[in-house]
Amino acid sequence: MSSLEIKNLHVAIGDKEIVKGFTLTINSGEVHAVMGPNGTGKSTLSKAIAGHPDYRITSGDVLIDGKSILELEADERARAGVFLAFQYPSEITGVSIANFLRAALQARLAEGEELDASAYYKRLYEKMDRLKIDRKFTSRAVNEGFSGGEKKRCEILQMAMLEPHFALMDETDSGLDIDALRIVAEGVNAMRGPNLGVLLITHYQRLLDYIIPDFVHVMYDGQIVKSGDKSLALELEAKGYDWVKREFAAANSRS
Ligand code: ADP
Ligand code: MG
Repeated sequence: MSSLEIKNLHVAIGDKEIVKGFTLTINSGEVHAVMGPNGTGKSTLSKAIAGHPDYRITSGDVLIDGKSILELEADERARAGVFLAFQYPSEITGVSIANFLRAALQARLAEGEELDASAYYKRLYEKMDRLKIDRKFTSRAVNEGFSGGEKKRCEILQMAMLEPHFALMDETDSGLDIDALRIVAEGVNAMRGPNLGVLLITHYQRLLDYIIPDFVHVMYDGQIVKSGDKSLALELEAKGYDWVKREFAAANSRS
């Protein structure tokens, strides 16, 4: 069993502090949903954990199995088992999905070791079949001209191939119609298991009808202000985020 510990994390972009003391431990096998209003720091949190260089961790720590990963570069964190599915995936003109994934897997091998091409394609097609992705998909350039749903499917395929220990999924549901949402959820559910911990960031409760989280946390003003089980997500759906903001303001004015 593996653990991803986020300890009192503070993250700044430029001089502005965005994440303000975020604490959460994700064990393998667990799915934690983080919900919260726009602008509250959810994407900043996930990018900082993945090692995006623009996001400065000013204090706190992120540990995998008790060992800090903050000194690691983004690619080293990926090799340590962290995967980030972007809210807004980038297009990579001229690079096919098949070649992109092959390069990503090759990069994880030791110096001088060569990825076996036939084994690679076998694995790729197995994963695609499992995720119900058309084989023609792999010859297209990464995300180029993709619909919202196709981009998200591409993220899920990357995740399936890289087999991370911890997946940070940043609003993988945003901009999806209900069919695409189901495909994403099926993909995540297919990968769910004792070897994977998931941080599922979502603004809406809808995705959580398909991916049932073990824990739900509400993020506001850069930190977790409330935690519960999936019923908390339903409560948020019914009541919106205003009551969270009011409670937060009231608690802060008392202290
Ligand atoms: P969320 O994902 O919860 O909607 P974000 O983490 O994207 O929130 O943004 C939190 C705050 O940080 C917002 O005020 C946003 O404008 C700011 N922010 C995010 N990314 C950047 C950036 N690259 N440069 C400057 N400000 C940013
Ligand atoms: Mg975001």
